[in-house]
Amino acid sequence: MSLRAVIVAMLLTLLVLPAAAAPRYFENSAPYPRLKPEAATPLPLIVIDPGHGGRDPGAIGQGGLYEKTVTTSAANELKRLLESTGRYRVLLTRNSDIYVEHEDRIRLARERHADLFISIHADSTGSPSTRGASVYTIADRARNRSKRIVNSQNWIMDVDLAEQSDPVGDILVDLAQRSTETHSEAFANILLGNMDGKTRMVGNSHRRAGYFVLLAPDVPAILLELGFLSNAQDEKLLKTKAHRVKLMKAVRRSVDEYFTGPGRRG
Ligand SMILES: [Zn+2]
Repeated sequence: MSLRAVIVAMLLTLLVLPAAAAPRYFENSAPYPRLKPEAATPLPLIVIDPGHGGRDPGAIGQGGLYEKTVTTSAANELKRLLESTGRYRVLLTRNSDIYVEHEDRIRLARERHADLFISIHADSTGSPSTRGASVYTIADRARNRSKRIVNSQNWIMDVDLAEQSDPVGDILVDLAQRSTETHSEAFANILLGNMDGKTRMVGNSHRRAGYFVLLAPDVPAILLELGFLSNAQDEKLLKTKAHRVKLMKAVRRSVDEYFTGPGRRG
């Protein structure tokens, strides 16, 4: 090898090496997606999502009770209960009888860096004897749908996926999803424990589904079905404020335990 060739080789090495040695993906960001960016205020933010609204009444009971009416009342009652503790900031995805797209409900939670998303609904089924509350978390099979939505909605993850190659972007969404799911499951379990005995629970009360509002990869989320409007007794109960407040107190207790329990953040 001539001297010239050696010098050229050394120069090439100098040019190539630093680029090769530098971390490729995490130069400007934390190595893992941060699930909870530093908030300006230390109070956790709870986003309450009253299901349906406006032109979408949701389920309609035999006695004429609209699901959207029940969810609006319950959400407002929960908001008051949580705010009265002074421990949380609370936002509603809608505070009047309007229709809000699912995307916009999640967008609000993500953009405001919500610590917990609670969607409130009332169930309905063809069998009028079925009654009781249930709690939904995201189903395994919905994970890929969540990934597709991250891409299609151009959701900005805390680590900017646009700058990542696809496999790395997928891994980051995956990591965020797994951590979020762990938190969602933890809250769901606390809530189920606090509701059991306070109200009738439907068999198999912890359910999993791919509901759109559960799909945010970085906001722990559950969907609470307060009872069945297709059941006359449940409909009658959900009409009464005392019953709804009893249920919402179980939710507040669960939020408290979630944020202050052993090993919990906040
Ligand atoms: Zn519903």
